Amino acid sequence: MADIKVPLLDLNEQNHSLAAELTAAFERVLGHGQFILGQEVSAFEEAAAKELGARHAIGVSSGTDALLLALMALDIGPGDEVICPSFSFFASAGTIARLGAKPVFADICPVCFNLDPESVATLITPRTKAIMPVHLFGQAAAMESLLALARDHNLRVIEDAAQAFGAAYRGKALGTLGDFGCFSFFPSKNLGGFGDSGLITTEDDALAHRARILRVHGAEPKYYHSLIGGNFRIDALQAALLAVKLPHHRQYSHARATNAAEYNEKLGALPGVIKERSCELCNTGPVSNQEAPRLILPQALPENTHIWNQYTVRLPAQPGANELPRDALKRWLNERDIGAEIYYPVPFHQQACFAYLDNAPCIESERAAREVLSIPIYPELAVDQRERVIEAITEFLEDAGY
Ligand SMILES: *Cc1c(COP(=O)(O)O)cnc(C)c1O
Repeated sequence: MADIKVPLLDLNEQNHSLAAELTAAFERVLGHGQFILGQEVSAFEEAAAKELGARHAIGVSSGTDALLLALMALDIGPGDEVICPSFSFFASAGTIARLGAKPVFADICPVCFNLDPESVATLITPRTKAIMPVHLFGQAAAMESLLALARDHNLRVIEDAAQAFGAAYRGKALGTLGDFGCFSFFPSKNLGGFGDSGLITTEDDALAHRARILRVHGAEPKYYHSLIGGNFRIDALQAALLAVKLPHHRQYSHARATNAAEYNEKLGALPGVIKERSCELCNTGPVSNQEAPRLILPQALPENTHIWNQYTVRLPAQPGANELPRDALKRWLNERDIGAEIYYPVPFHQQACFAYLDNAPCIESERAAREVLSIPIYPELAVDQRERVIEAITEFLEDAGY
């Protein structure tokens, strides 16, 4: 098995299997020549809204721009605070700061990696305008508690669902629970496009209208600007190509979940591996206090439909070890032609660009940054590739001197 290569992600099989339909979509756009907005974009938006059960879906230029547009539509700017997790992809915090608002970094739950509602509660001030839960790695944040906090304090909720297209919380699609849902179709995401693009969803007619206007420089009608927006449009060509892949997103998620279940079963049977712990923060009980675990597997909480955008294991730091076990496993896998990546190595509150903020420490975010490693989970991962990953991790655990 040692000669089997396993990339972290390989989209060619997924995309090439749709080559005929994708080519037809390209030829259709080439034929009619409508490259900006128009029928291709509306058709994709309608199909995406239907898939998600969302009232409005608006195609935009990227997941980052989806977040920016949502914040702009809610009129968030200087003097405002927005609470987001310290452990996420940069765009979650970067968009808040770019608008002159203050990103306030809350800590995360150690089991699901998402916003800890108790940490959020301690950070709410009279200037807090919104909470931005990130549904990291494809699984919902603790939305019931977060929505209750938002209700009690009159805050807006912007869901960063960039990694969670098609995921659900108590059966409801992510992106339909807050004021806005923000999605990304960056190629590596669960519904991956052919370049950059994104989507915002909302259940609110007035907010949808504002977002649509802001997408085209705040103009309504053209050249009459009541708002200052930007160019946040999705390309018609991108929309046409995404419309081909959209009907397959459930199948992609299903294949990812199959891979996750296989990892959970096989890796979970190894000594020193924790498969399940419950979490007080997410209201499902205490964290397991099993002594010195060596590897902790990711867990789908019972209220969540997880779409496994990432399969992220943790390797707790070992006392006395001179290298983080996570770094050792990453090197071990990479040396064996197995992709593995750290999402994310530095929490926001420790980023140089946010040093100007009076950031509170976020212990669990810092711990996650030291312990996490994402391994291949993409839908087209072959059985022998998956077995190879399991074999290599098994050998690592046998070999590791701790
Ligand atoms: C990918 C991602 C984004 C940004 O999406 P882009 O399309 O790359 O701009 C935002 N938030 C999270 C959590 C992401 O994973």
